[in-house]
Amino acid sequence: MSDYRQMWTDLGLNLPAHDALLNALPGLYKEIYLSQTDRPKGMEYFDFVVSEIHGLRVRELMDHKAKGGKVLAAMCVFVPEEVVYAAGAICVGLCGGIDWASDEVEKILPRNLCALIKSFMGFKLDKVCPYFEVADLVVGETTCDGKKKSFEVLNDYIPVHVMETPQMKNEADYRMWAGEIRRFITVVEKLTGNTITEENLRQGIRKIDARRKALQRLSATRKASPSPISGKDALLINQIAFYDDVDRFTLKVNELCDELEQRNADASPATIEDDLRIMVTGTPMAIPNWKIPHLVETSGARIVFDELCTGERSFQNLVGDMADKDMDGMIEAICRRSLEIDCACFTPNQPRIDKILTKSKEYRVDGVIHYALQSCDPFTIEGFRVEKSLKEKGIAAMRLETDYSQEDAGQLKTRIEAFFETLRERREMNG
Ligand code: SF4
Ligand code: SF4
Repeated sequence: MSDYRQMWTDLGLNLPAHDALLNALPGLYKEIYLSQTDRPKGMEYFDFVVSEIHGLRVRELMDHKAKGGKVLAAMCVFVPEEVVYAAGAICVGLCGGIDWASDEVEKILPRNLCALIKSFMGFKLDKVCPYFEVADLVVGETTCDGKKKSFEVLNDYIPVHVMETPQMKNEADYRMWAGEIRRFITVVEKLTGNTITEENLRQGIRKIDARRKALQRLSATRKASPSPISGKDALLINQIAFYDDVDRFTLKVNELCDELEQRNADASPATIEDDLRIMVTGTPMAIPNWKIPHLVETSGARIVFDELCTGERSFQNLVGDMADKDMDGMIEAICRRSLEIDCACFTPNQPRIDKILTKSKEYRVDGVIHYALQSCDPFTIEGFRVEKSLKEKGIAAMRLETDYSQEDAGQLKTRIEAFFETLRERREMNG
């Protein structure tokens, strides 16, 4: 990586703490990612992006700002990125996948909050995340109480605009969310000084839909047996989607898909797939939270489907072709697309369960792992119904609750291996 120390100093980062964070990543990445064999060549680009995670992309954002552009940071897939790009601004996802500055965080937030919230707050308090420091505005939402109240605290450190997300999907909720999108348009116009027009919103929709289509294509390649890419690599790509340049990322994912589709075409039909096929569903896994996928894929299984917001939920549906739509029609379409996301913040949330059942069959999974961060009420509570519904349909399932520490890794591995043993017995019984 080039020398970015001057850039980090200009951003006001806490350099000693930032060095400690960056020093932790390469060893972890080598062990989890670079140790994999037979990785697609197209992963080289994504390895490069990770190696430059606090370098090149941050430089691009600063160059954008130097020309008068704005950067918005979001933490949820409900935030309508289309609006941000329509105004000529850039949207980045803030990560929160590692414990950081917990002692400082716990002075202002309760200990028993989920690790994701504590992580992003730790990054801000300790000034180690260049994306936080480069952002002009954080866009929060009210999906869960932990985030909702934490955004009030975060607002003391950086301006935060909070969008009120509905918790049901009745017509009144659609109207309310469309109103929130209009309020967001006003905020973005004020911040950027640019007016959102039918034409630039249409362009913004096309840009983000193209990225979603590329990720849908990637997901479709994983239906093959054997799946041509590891679940860890697929997760990494989805995590990078939140902060990389949208057009370049879309191009690189499509190039990778060319390679994966060729792999699938070249695979011998007689190839016997030894690895179990697993679906992971639940709480999103922010970078660098790779704990569960690594445990799963070093225990004789391959993850072939992720029902996560760092997976399917972020790209499962498109806003669509807006050629004949006016501003109202486009806002309506953005609103409907996002409310099809089956986040556990919704009640009731049967469509999520139905989707897990459908995708279990479509991707021919041997079993489903429901993953939830400790203290994440929406997903830990919903996990029970998900597991019950799967078992009623004869699909094997297990629930895991964990945090970002490695203390329980041995115990989790034992449980995962025991689950996989039962899946192998089932495979044998079913021939
Ligand atoms: S799980 Fe819910 S709150 Fe979290 S990113 Fe997804 S939609 Fe947003
Ligand atoms: S992981 Fe759960 S509790 Fe934490 S921010 Fe997301 S929805 Fe809220």
